[in-house]
Amino acid sequence: MSPKIILIHPPVAKCSEPPAGIAKLSSCLNENGISNDVIDANLEGILFLLKHTSDKNTTADRWTTRAIKNLERNLAALRNIDTYQNQSRYQRAVMDINHLLNVAAKSWHVDLSLADYHDQNLSPVKSSDLISAAEKPQANPFYPYFQNRLMVALESNPDFIGFSMNYLSQALCTFAMIGFIKQIQQRQKIILGGSLITSWIKLGARKNIFRGLVDYMVEGAGEKKLLEILNVKNGSNNSPPDYDGFPLNKYLSPGLILPYSAARGCYWHKCAFCPEKAEGNAYLPLEVSKVTEELQILNRQTNPSLIHILDSSISPSLLGALAQSPPGEPWYGFTRITKHLADEDFCLSLKRSGCAMLKLGIESGDQRVLDQLNKGIDLSTASAILKTLKKSGIAVYCYFLLGTPPENEESALKTMDFVARHHECIDFLNLAIFNLPSRSVEARSLSTHDFYEGDLSLYKNFQHPLGWQRSAVRNFLEKTFKKHPAIVPVIRRTPEFFTSNHAPFFVRETPI
Ligand code: SF4
Repeated sequence: MSPKIILIHPPVAKCSEPPAGIAKLSSCLNENGISNDVIDANLEGILFLLKHTSDKNTTADRWTTRAIKNLERNLAALRNIDTYQNQSRYQRAVMDINHLLNVAAKSWHVDLSLADYHDQNLSPVKSSDLISAAEKPQANPFYPYFQNRLMVALESNPDFIGFSMNYLSQALCTFAMIGFIKQIQQRQKIILGGSLITSWIKLGARKNIFRGLVDYMVEGAGEKKLLEILNVKNGSNNSPPDYDGFPLNKYLSPGLILPYSAARGCYWHKCAFCPEKAEGNAYLPLEVSKVTEELQILNRQTNPSLIHILDSSISPSLLGALAQSPPGEPWYGFTRITKHLADEDFCLSLKRSGCAMLKLGIESGDQRVLDQLNKGIDLSTASAILKTLKKSGIAVYCYFLLGTPPENEESALKTMDFVARHHECIDFLNLAIFNLPSRSVEARSLSTHDFYEGDLSLYKNFQHPLGWQRSAVRNFLEKTFKKHPAIVPVIRRTPEFFTSNHAPFFVRETPI
């Protein structure tokens, strides 16, 4: 008899779209005749907490009372495209829902939001704290949800339970769920995979670090390894992700956002300090013809309102293929600054193919910094691209990074000036402070100390070589950069919590 497995997407991650990782694993298992179920415990857990808080909170303050009263209306609003034409209505719905989550977790000493999970006593980058979370699952705010949910799931007597962990915000909840399973059933083998696990293993974590709780820690693409664990010989893995088992109408988005990965890793792979480079992840793209074909199949099967291409950087050849063979619905994703995008005809063909928004990591407005970071881009091309995309009706979500080792305050001022000069071409903005990946080659030449003081920490704190320390960077970002009159409106229209996942819905269709 073939084994049975349950695949779980644990809290907390943004609940605007189904999880691509376990959808791909599930399709591979189906292709090889392995019985499997998927559970989006993130979405289910968040909806459970919201409802539970609404049911039991009778002595609430005014904001909480309003958020409880309007919960169903606010959830419905986020699932309705009309809300995205009214920024203040959207914002009110998101802030009220987020507030309720925050209230739900307060008495558990957890700061919970729609995008993050922060335990006041336990760190997700300390293996001893993760083990503590497993020892006391009852101390997790999602316990009232997962105790029943997992008991019901275990009635089918699966042989394996797999958790896909991609963000630090999922780590403590994952271990609480594993701990609960171990308390009630010892039989199931636990498999732990996802990009966070890959990063930890690359960082040097032993694969038996959670012995007694976790039976297999899987590094990299999980399909092949999973088939090996399940003892499937000569298994195949050719199908597109399978979203059948997910509650597609429950996600907090207007219609289904279909996530799709056309490549693992990044084709550029050269930027200094990038985790892709630091972890030595290989670039593994699918054939572009397979991508366009799969997207059209998925489009027919799921009828999405938006396609989210998950690649670290959509390659120029894939952009070209999408322009030639449109997937059939609006799409967006990350791409690099390359000269193709300065070509108006090319951008118009992308627009016609449904490209609603491109995410661009420009990172700095100082060419010297870009060169030292090995970004392989120049600012005059970036400027031309922003103007061309604007003209072509494709929205732009720009990413800038402050506090990198080659940056000083003068460079940061140049970045601010670049953003201000292009404010009419930048629709949404992400401004982040640089974190130094522990494993980067460049980190070896800097004076460092542990960032989060955890054995699983992905980043290190460092002495800035030009004296542009983190506190000064934060101060500049908050008090100067974000206050620039040309930049304020861009920051204001960037959706909170859901950020780029919801941004394309705010883009009004412009005729070409
Ligand atoms: S383009 Fe992006 S993903 Fe690729 S190496 Fe540079 S920073 Fe990393």
